[in-house]
Amino acid sequence: PYTGDSYEVALKKRRAYVHPSVELYYDKPLMIVEGKKQYLFDEKGRRYLDAIAGISVINCGHCHPKIVKATTDQLNTLQHTTTLYLNNMYTNYAEKLLKTLPKKLDTVYFVNSGSEATTLAMNMCRTYTNNWDMISLRGGYHGMGASMGLTANSHYKQPLPQGFGIKHVRSPNPYRGPYLEDDPNMVDKYVNEIHDLIQCGTCGEVAGFIAEPIQGVAGGIPLPKGYLKKAFEVVRKAGGICIADEVQDGFGRTGTMWGFQKDEDGLEPDIITMAKGIGNGFPLGAVVTTKEIANSFTKRFHFNTFGGNPVAMAVGNAVLDVIEEENLIENARVLGKYLKGKLTKLMDKHDVIGNVRGKGLMIGVELVKDRKTKEPGCQITLDILENMKELGVLTLIAGVYSNVLRIKPPLCITKEDADFIVDVFDEAIQML
Ligand code: PMP
Repeated sequence: PYTGDSYEVALKKRRAYVHPSVELYYDKPLMIVEGKKQYLFDEKGRRYLDAIAGISVINCGHCHPKIVKATTDQLNTLQHTTTLYLNNMYTNYAEKLLKTLPKKLDTVYFVNSGSEATTLAMNMCRTYTNNWDMISLRGGYHGMGASMGLTANSHYKQPLPQGFGIKHVRSPNPYRGPYLEDDPNMVDKYVNEIHDLIQCGTCGEVAGFIAEPIQGVAGGIPLPKGYLKKAFEVVRKAGGICIADEVQDGFGRTGTMWGFQKDEDGLEPDIITMAKGIGNGFPLGAVVTTKEIANSFTKRFHFNTFGGNPVAMAVGNAVLDVIEEENLIENARVLGKYLKGKLTKLMDKHDVIGNVRGKGLMIGVELVKDRKTKEPGCQITLDILENMKELGVLTLIAGVYSNVLRIKPPLCITKEDADFIVDVFDEAIQML
């Protein structure tokens, strides 16, 4: 049993010592002291089904024994030196990671977080092209720090100068946008907005374009089939580099290894940014690109003290093994389809469910006050979130209007867990 600080002491210390922008969730904040597989435990030993997985991080499950062993073994061998020396953990993991990607993506730079990855990717677009303007999608999230400018959601933007040379285009949202699912020209209309922006808002040439194939923070929105392929064509015509931000989508979450593979159309980004699921909870991120693009960044030294640290490399290596050995991608695909199907079926019963979408175990459920007007049901979403916690399932709110429930459990969940999520969601709505 847990023997640390009591709930009250932990809460008091949190309020006294921690920066207030590190928010606490839930009316009565939750204290979590242990994790195992798809479950989390509070200080009293109550079990919750973790349907958010540290926000798309814990793909392999909490405290996976193989990953824990790889971490502790490496901690006992070599904790850290510097990338200025050769180390086999680094080179072997680089080789293994690259094997999961299209051949042209043959070079990796390891970092510690998603924000570092997107910042480095953006800077490489600029040094390679000698252009400055970047394009990202509205509603998208690409990090804090220098990448706050790429993030296009006011919840995550401080009133600071940011994003100089970053322009945002409308996200191709088939449910809530000017062009909707039933419009046969929807994809082309959204792609034209990129073309217009390049024509009217830039010098006609751009450094690059970044998008999450399935938008995470925006509410689990899969970009419509064909959009990225056409968008990449327009951007490349204007000299730009195309980045797939796989920080949330990658490592099997969407039922394929990478989110950009969702349309199975041979799409090949020029740069891929990774974090979250890459380390199953250990701080690790990566930027993968081509030698040619990477070479443009060698005019000056680019240094990262912890990026490529041997423990992170051992973790990354074990994560790839677990994903393969436990067939997690297939599980995400099959159970994702099953879960989405059952959640969609609930629309017959509950009018507050406006839209159910996603791929694999990256699902968004949009809640509305009225299905016709699509008026966002913000309070409804908050209440469902609280009710689900009371019933033993943890999720999270997302979307520009904070009316989307995100369901992103560890990829090791079972059919029974999927049924439990649906039953709890159903009950949580009835409790409204
Ligand atoms: N890109 C995407 C798509 C993300 O979802 C996030 C984090 N939510 C980031 C980048 C930033 O990652 P980090 O918080 O590790 O800096």
